Amino acid sequence: MTYRCPLHCAFCSNPVDYMRHRQELDSAQWRQVLSQARALGAAQLGLSGGEPLLRDDLEDLVGHARQLGFYTNLITSGVGLTDARLGALRAAGLDHIQLSFQDSTRELNDFLSSTRTFDLKQRVARLIKAHGYPMVLNCVLHRHNLAHVGAIIEMALQMGAEYLELANTQYYGWAWENRLGLMPTEEQLRTAEAVVATYRARIGKRCRILYVVPDYFEKRPKKCMNGWGSVFLGVAPDGAALPCHAARMLPGLTLPNVRTQSLHDIWYHSEAFQRFRGTAWMPEPCRSCDEKERDLGGCRCQAWLLTGDAGRTDPVCDKSPDHASVHAVVMHGRLADHPLAPHRPLAPVPEAPLVFRTDAASLRLSGMAR
Ligand code: SF4
Ligand code: SF4
Repeated sequence: MTYRCPLHCAFCSNPVDYMRHRQELDSAQWRQVLSQARALGAAQLGLSGGEPLLRDDLEDLVGHARQLGFYTNLITSGVGLTDARLGALRAAGLDHIQLSFQDSTRELNDFLSSTRTFDLKQRVARLIKAHGYPMVLNCVLHRHNLAHVGAIIEMALQMGAEYLELANTQYYGWAWENRLGLMPTEEQLRTAEAVVATYRARIGKRCRILYVVPDYFEKRPKKCMNGWGSVFLGVAPDGAALPCHAARMLPGLTLPNVRTQSLHDIWYHSEAFQRFRGTAWMPEPCRSCDEKERDLGGCRCQAWLLTGDAGRTDPVCDKSPDHASVHAVVMHGRLADHPLAPHRPLAPVPEAPLVFRTDAASLRLSGMAR
């Protein structure tokens, strides 16, 4: 809904050049997009950003979506989620709220988001519960907080969370810029995974814990977006229609825009949504691979970032001729190990200082700074 955000997370998945795309759709345009999406058969609406609460018309749009029959989910940092706004969102029919945390400690939460928001998030979590919503928390994991996984789960349990998503960083957007400073070691990942397994066995259904392993440590890629142009359609704040959240970075891909084209046309006829749909586009070794229906060749953005060609096999796959490019990033993470272990004072990784998501950094990294 907006790329604007009061936080400055070093792992933010928004485009690094978000300052190029500041002209947001207005309320009427969003209403039209939602109506068109529902007519196409879309059933779930995820409202994310940036921080969607920065849009004054959020409640109106939720109300419109609810009337259309959408199941609505708000993904928020919690900043701006007051008692009054929660009441208004509830009245508008919002179904679900997902609240993000950066860590179980105030120090790291506030360091990673470059804001003092830890206490605020605790208050917002209580408010969400008080308004009768299930408590759904998410926390992005990386080398700086993987050792805290047990404490993060404890925090979620204390808050009465019914659902906790522990998502290891996916390396796009700002996280790609910071990949050397965020990349964990395999040992950190496996240790955290074991902690999660212990908790799962102990707490049963009291809280469902989802633990998403980063692609870079797998031998097969994920079926990204469940297939390009298959089930997911994203609309960026400026109206660009996206086959996946990160697709805006792909060179040579002209993204259609909801200001000038209907969603029906975009989904069925635009070149961008056809480009990697199905299996016909695949190069070798995917083309003749007996697993191609299972992962559809993986992630196009990952292929572009690691090889410079979005049409290649996802290098995460160990059948890819580019698989070594993944190892290079992972190995660097291992070599730069332990700069932020929990018992040490907070400091950026010496070799790769974190770049926090700010307007100034976006202008600089997209070559727009004067
Ligand atoms: S990851 Fe952080 S900076 Fe990015 S949109 Fe979410 S809260 Fe904002
Ligand atoms: S070669 Fe391609 S289709 Fe086969 S497993 Fe690897 S990414 Fe999937």
